[in-house]
Amino acid sequence: MAKFIITTVDPRTEAVVPLMYDNSDSSLTDLQGRSMVRTVDPTLLAATQDALVTSREAPLGKTSPRVLKISLGLSCNYSCEYCSQRFVARNIETNPDDIDWFLASLDSWVLTPPDAIEFWGGEPLVYIKTLRPLADALRQKFPAARFSVITNGSLLNPETNQWLEDLEFTVSISHDGPGQHVRGPDPLEDQQVRTAILDLYERLAPKERFSFNAMLNRDNQSRAEIQSFFVNLTGDPNVLIGEGGFVDAYDAGGINQSLREDEFHSFRRQAFHDIRHGKASRIASVRDRVMSFVNSLRFMRPAPSLGQKCGMDRPDSIAVDLKGNVLTCQNVSAAALAPNGESHRIGHTSQLDQVALKTATHWSHRSECPKCPVLQICKGSCMFLEGPLWEASCNNAYSDALPIFASGIEFLTGLVPVFIDGDIPEARKDIFGFGHTNANETVATRKPFPVQVVAA
Ligand code: SF4
Ligand code: SF4
Repeated sequence: MAKFIITTVDPRTEAVVPLMYDNSDSSLTDLQGRSMVRTVDPTLLAATQDALVTSREAPLGKTSPRVLKISLGLSCNYSCEYCSQRFVARNIETNPDDIDWFLASLDSWVLTPPDAIEFWGGEPLVYIKTLRPLADALRQKFPAARFSVITNGSLLNPETNQWLEDLEFTVSISHDGPGQHVRGPDPLEDQQVRTAILDLYERLAPKERFSFNAMLNRDNQSRAEIQSFFVNLTGDPNVLIGEGGFVDAYDAGGINQSLREDEFHSFRRQAFHDIRHGKASRIASVRDRVMSFVNSLRFMRPAPSLGQKCGMDRPDSIAVDLKGNVLTCQNVSAAALAPNGESHRIGHTSQLDQVALKTATHWSHRSECPKCPVLQICKGSCMFLEGPLWEASCNNAYSDALPIFASGIEFLTGLVPVFIDGDIPEARKDIFGFGHTNANETVATRKPFPVQVVAA
């Protein structure tokens, strides 16, 4: 774990104020060790537990799920540029005949009703003949579970919309707003589909069970533009936008859509500006991560309590296909290998006690993450990536997390971080591209920071 000296600027006076940040105990202090944050009395907190740590050598298993992710298959009617599933080896497809066996097997491994059941593709509505009877039966069996599905929206129609509403689904439409043309086809260009998407919006948005899920990439960097696209589309200033983080690089398409080194600073300036001016206020990954980081500082959240960002290292989060194969996550198949050579089929529901998550690396086993200033926000990127794909994803994640880091610290202290000193690569120290500084510089000796570029 690591300590950092954070150079901050007071945007009102332009005074430079050095702070200390420790990513292991989430303390933020001045250089004399006085806390900059009104922390919460630790006796009021439930004791935080250390997260379980998985590795190939000491893999975690799975238990009866709290979150059950059912993979219907990886078929899709679209072929999007940076889809995490694009080059994943396919299984023999599941079909409606698999449902009876799957349902009959449930009582042997789902021992308490799950809180949430997610139905995953590919494109889940390609599998509507399987999805409908499966979800109908699961709704009867688990009436209180939250049901959710993420779809590209292209196969929605009034009948499916009614069914999704009746079954109390939460629906997310994957759409990158103004950057959709970079990702793939645009369902909103088909008038019938557009009408169906907006019909579903009318049905579910008032119950807060609808979001558009957008991702950032190097050709779609502005959260402000994404937010205003969906406000205009729906006419609803309170539209919910899910996801909203920068893409991970799962293949060459993802690498192409990753930030280049000369784009890091401009992206961070724009992202900070959008967050600071409320232009990304409807975007879940901004709102949730800023508040989570603020709370990490208020509650002094210990780093060992952090699991992976997606939660698929948790024993009670499980991804399965209809043949009972247990998978690393919903984005892979039983036929695919992880970058470390292990099968993404990590076991079978008939022998849940034998499941072993050997495909994943917890952040604490990476050399970079424990020393990273944005660890409490990023939580280690995708747990199965390795090599150049992990490096590109880590770079994207770092630039994505820094504006959240700066916003959280400004929210609590009124000071804007501009430079991070510590045991990190030189190229990662300058947050917005304002140039080198150190804690000894004063207003008199330093070149002024153009902090108004981000803070105006
Ligand atoms: S930005 Fe990279 S080094 Fe930092 S926590 Fe995320 S994955 Fe790890
Ligand atoms: S392991 Fe987690 S981050 Fe990686 S593809 Fe699966 S769900 Fe996404």
